[in-house]
Amino acid sequence: MTAPVYENTDVFAYGLDAADPLRPLRDEFLFPPAPSGAPAIYLAGNSLGLQPRKARKYVQMEMEDWERLGVEGHVHGRHPWLPYHEQLTDMVARVVGAQPIEVVVMNTLSVNLHLMMVSFYRPTRERFKILIEGGAFPSDQYAVASQARFHGYDPKEAIVRLMPREGEDTLRSEDILEAIERHGKELALVMLGSVNYLTGQAFDLREITRVAHAQGCKVGFDLAHAAGNLKLSLHDDGPDFAVWCSYKYLNGGPGSLGGVFVHERHAHSPQLPRFEGWWGHNKATRFEMGPTFDPLPGAEGWQLSNPPIFQLAALRSSLELFDKATMAALRTKSDQLTGYLEFLLDRLPAGYVSITTPRDLKQRGAQLSLRFKGEPKRLLQRLSAAGIICDFREPDIIRAAPTPLYNTYLDVFRFVKALEAHALE
Ligand SMILES: *Cc1c(COP(=O)(O)O)cnc(C)c1O
Repeated sequence: MTAPVYENTDVFAYGLDAADPLRPLRDEFLFPPAPSGAPAIYLAGNSLGLQPRKARKYVQMEMEDWERLGVEGHVHGRHPWLPYHEQLTDMVARVVGAQPIEVVVMNTLSVNLHLMMVSFYRPTRERFKILIEGGAFPSDQYAVASQARFHGYDPKEAIVRLMPREGEDTLRSEDILEAIERHGKELALVMLGSVNYLTGQAFDLREITRVAHAQGCKVGFDLAHAAGNLKLSLHDDGPDFAVWCSYKYLNGGPGSLGGVFVHERHAHSPQLPRFEGWWGHNKATRFEMGPTFDPLPGAEGWQLSNPPIFQLAALRSSLELFDKATMAALRTKSDQLTGYLEFLLDRLPAGYVSITTPRDLKQRGAQLSLRFKGEPKRLLQRLSAAGIICDFREPDIIRAAPTPLYNTYLDVFRFVKALEAHALE
């Protein structure tokens, strides 16, 4: 695809919206109001995705079945609760590029990361280290450090952190691969993110997996900012596991359920150590209530508890929209939408803003991480008063993520016009 030629006018932005085949999906979402009463320009879908119109109806349906049926809703509900999560499996598999047996919606991200490390971080005296990004999300850093400690290792020795080169914000692919090879024989696990929450940098999951597996390491990815954002191919890329949350790009609602990928190669390994719970037990004999755990094949075999149906219901409404749109089409639009944002930002007065996120399309998704001249929190308040919602992350980054499901080119245009007004003050 040749790079689109953009123009810095609202007429041009209108034109792109008019020609956008995904434009109708915007009407499937509810927008918080700006102070003017008009829908806000919402650029924080990387932090908390907006509410799909149908979410309330789907949750309401389960409230009604609970009212009408009580315990019998497990079997006789319009969407019976016992197998409720199974309705989401194929849709989630398509979002992350997996086989249905490889995915399950359950728990929340940090919980799932621990559960996966129970199975895939099996340190030995020679091979006990975990490679992570130096700038990994705090919860991930706490998780790996506490797992190392749990197995009797000092995190100072067990955790290897990837740092950008002096004076650079993001990691170079060749440095990641070189570090995996350099530490390879000591690494039990390579656990990286994609996309990084702060810098917006995406990694080459396939290449990282290939190089880490060649060193005999297990590989896991935290896809909190990648699920529903990048076009993932988890099965083909081949990591051992991946985890993500669904309240960011996947619009599952605050605190919504996370997802887990366990590669098919581990689907029929009941001997793989794991923490066990009754929801991971063979469905045919679960209610015989026997004392011995018989794990379900695939990712479902890692489930512990029966899941919260209302959260599953809300998430179902969003996944249906992903299915309608397809990740391929969303990614195409997202590259153009974020490309337009980049184009407009580059036309602001020199020195006012710098973009931390890589400019290479293969190394980013929807989000651009921005550093502004001046006090970022004040700018954020100004934007908020103008009905524009983005977010701030310490120490000095404003994140803006136009999401292809519900943002328009005009949203992007108006956002940059508001920045321009601020820059010229
Ligand atoms: C958002 C995010 C989390 C949040 O974890 P929860 O367990 O869902 O609260 C963890 N890791 C990363 C990389 C994130 O971006």
